[in-house]
Amino acid sequence: MPYPHPADPLAPSTTPARLLEAAVEAAAGGELSHALALAQQALDTATDRALRLQAAHRCAFCLFRLGRLEELVTLFARCWPELRDSAGRLDLDECLRWAVLAASETGRHAEAMAWAVEGVERARSGERSADLALSLNAMGACYERMGDPWQAERIMLEALSHARLDGGAQALMITLNNLAAVTIGAYHLLRDGIDETDASATLERAASYAREAAAMAALTGEPFHRVFIEGNLGEILLHQRRLDEAEPLLHRALAAAEQGGHQAQVWRIRCTLAEGDLHGDQAARVLERLQPMASDALDQVPAATQIRLHHAMYRASKLLGDTAAALRHHEAGEQLLRRRMAQQLRAQSALLVTRTEAELSRLQAERARLEAQIERARAAELAVRASQDALTGLGNRRYLDEHLPRLLRQAEQQRSELALVLIDIDHFKSINDRFGHRVGDRVLVELAQRLRQGTRSADLIARIGGEEFLVALPDTDLHRATEVCERLREQVERTDWGQHQAGLRVTVSIGLAMAPPHDMAALFDQADRALYRAKQAGRNRVRAG
Ligand code: GH3
Ligand code: MG
Ligand code: MG
Repeated sequence: MPYPHPADPLAPSTTPARLLEAAVEAAAGGELSHALALAQQALDTATDRALRLQAAHRCAFCLFRLGRLEELVTLFARCWPELRDSAGRLDLDECLRWAVLAASETGRHAEAMAWAVEGVERARSGERSADLALSLNAMGACYERMGDPWQAERIMLEALSHARLDGGAQALMITLNNLAAVTIGAYHLLRDGIDETDASATLERAASYAREAAAMAALTGEPFHRVFIEGNLGEILLHQRRLDEAEPLLHRALAAAEQGGHQAQVWRIRCTLAEGDLHGDQAARVLERLQPMASDALDQVPAATQIRLHHAMYRASKLLGDTAAALRHHEAGEQLLRRRMAQQLRAQSALLVTRTEAELSRLQAERARLEAQIERARAAELAVRASQDALTGLGNRRYLDEHLPRLLRQAEQQRSELALVLIDIDHFKSINDRFGHRVGDRVLVELAQRLRQGTRSADLIARIGGEEFLVALPDTDLHRATEVCERLREQVERTDWGQHQAGLRVTVSIGLAMAPPHDMAALFDQADRALYRAKQAGRNRVRAG
C-alpha cells in the first residue's frame, strides 16, 4: 500500500501504527519534514503507550536532525513525565540525550542539566557502556554550553574510556567527535592572544580527536554523522591554516548537509568557510556567502552560529571599508554574546546556589564520582595516545610491541597460521619532493584508511616507520594472505589520487612472511627480505618470503 505523501491529504482512517511506519520509511528516505508530520500525527492520535513512545522518539529524531531544537525541547518536556517509565529503554535514553543537547543548545541550561543528570544515572544503573558513554557526552555538552569546555572535555574523556572499552564503534565515533567539538570551543576562548601556547596545544588535541573520528566515519558513519565530523575536522584544519585540506572537506560536508536537510550544519559550515575566506583576504566572498543567511533565516540560526556569522561579517565589512555595516554586525554580535553570557551565568548560579540541598548533594556526589573516573580515563587516554600514531590514528611501534607478541602466542597455542605483512610506499621520497610534505602526509592518511578498510577488525595494523606499515593477519594461510595483499596493492594503485593532487600516483610494495615459526624477529627478517625482492622486481608488487 502506498504511503501518504505531503501532497496527498492523509486519510483520516489511517491508524497511528501505519502513520508511524510511514514516518520511519520517510525518515529513512531522507524526507525528514514529511516524516515529522507523520510522526506528529501518530503521536497526536495514539493512545497505546508503547506506540506513543515510538512516535515521540521519531518526532525527536526528525526535529534533532532538522535542527528545530526549540520544538524538540517543548515536545520532550511535554512527553517525558508520561513516558519516562515506559519499557522502551533504548528509545527513551536516546530521546533524553537529544533533549539534553537541544535544551543546552537553546540556552535552557537548567532543564538540560537536570535531564543530563537523570540520563547519566539511568545509564549507570544499566549495563551498556555505549549508553553510559553517550549520556556522559550529553552531560559534557551541557557544561560546554554553560561556558566550561574544560569540564566538558574531562567528562567526555570518561565517556571515551567507556566507549573504547566496549561501547562499540558508533559510541566511540560520536564521543571522539564531541571531544573535537568541545576542544574547538576551548580553542575559541584561548585564541587571539589570550593564551597562544595553550590555544595551539588545544587545537592539536582537537585535531587528533577529529582525525580518529573522521577515519571511523569514513568506514561506518551514516551521512549525518559524517557531515558533523567532517565539518569539525574541516574547521580545525582551517584554524591550522591547512586550507588545501580543509576546503574540499568542508565543501563535501556542506553538499551532504544540504542534501540531507541538516540545516543547522549547513549554516555552521557556511560560517566556517567564510572564516576561511577571511584568512585568505577574500572579504567580498565572505559577504556573498553569509548575506543570504543573514537576511532570510537569521532567527532560525542557532545562537552560536549567529555569533560567528556577525563576527565574520563585521571583519569583512571592515576590510571593505563599510564602517556602517561593520558597526551593525559588531553590535549585533556583541548583544548575542552578552545574552549568552547572561544565560550561562544565570545557569551556573542556578546550578550552584539555588538548588535544594538534596539536589545539590546528589549533583556533588555525581561530580565527585565523575572526577575520580575522569582521572582514570585521562590516564587510559594518555596510554592510548602513546601507542598511537598522531598523523594516521593507527598504532605505532610501541603498539606493535604491546600487541604482536600476544597474537603470536595465541597463534602458537592454537596451532594456527599468522601472516605478517610489510607495506612500503614506492618512491615516496620523490612524492614529497615533487608535491611537498603536505601531500605526502595526506597520502599516508589515505593509505592508512585503505588499510583499515581492507582488513578485518581482528587484524593488527601499525605504522612502523615514515612510510612503512605493518599488518598482521591472524588465522590466515599463505594463499589467503597473498590474496589480501594483492587486493590491498591493487586498491592503492586504483585509488583516485588525482583528487588530492593532479598528477599524483601512488603504489606500494608488499613483503609477506608466514608463522610458524612463531618468532617475531625471524618473521620480520623474512618479510623484510620479501619486501626487498618486491622492490627489486620493479615495485608495485607482492612477494612472499
Ligand atoms: P622506495 O620505493 O625504495 O621505498 O623509495 P622511497 O623514496 O619510498 O624510500 P626512502 O626510504 O628513500 O624514502 C622514504 C621517505 O619518506 C623519506 C622521508 O622524507 C619520507 N617520510 C618519512 N616520514 C614521513 C612523514 O611523516 N611525512 C612525509 N610527508 N614524508 C615522510
Ligand atoms: Mg621505506
Ligand atoms: Mg618507500
